[in-house]
Amino acid sequence: MDERADCIFCRIADGKIKSNILYQDEELLAFPDINPLAPTHILIIPRKHIASVAEMPTQDAHLIGDMAKLAKKLAGDNGIAEKGFRLVINNGPEGGQGVNHLHMHLLGGRQLGSKLG
Ligand code: AMP
Ligand code: ZN
Repeated sequence: MDERADCIFCRIADGKIKSNILYQDEELLAFPDINPLAPTHILIIPRKHIASVAEMPTQDAHLIGDMAKLAKKLAGDNGIAEKGFRLVINNGPEGGQGVNHLHMHLLGGRQLGSKLG
């Protein structure tokens, strides 16, 4: 099985599926969620195919911090840093993960509910 060919987010990272790339470097990529749940809804992913936090090799754990750092920058760029925003990483079926490539949601631009589940 060709993991990258079968993964929608790898295909975006590899330029095989067009997306409005908001940020990219050698490690990370950010693009708008196709089904936005808030005025700002951006997905941040590593280029490397990592299925989930649970399947993340320990040596790649720094990516989570790097993704949070990028989320902070994008929140500033989108004018939501001061009012507030939410960062979410779903993991596995009961965690609500639909795409099996590690990703962080950056949500903001409206009052978000206090309930998580
Ligand atoms: P999750 O439920 O945490 O796995 O989130 C997956 C997210 O990916 C959902 O919010 C989808 O709307 C979003 N999504 C799926 N396909 C695409 C795509 N081609 N481009 C942008 N976002 C996508
Ligand atoms: Zn992938």
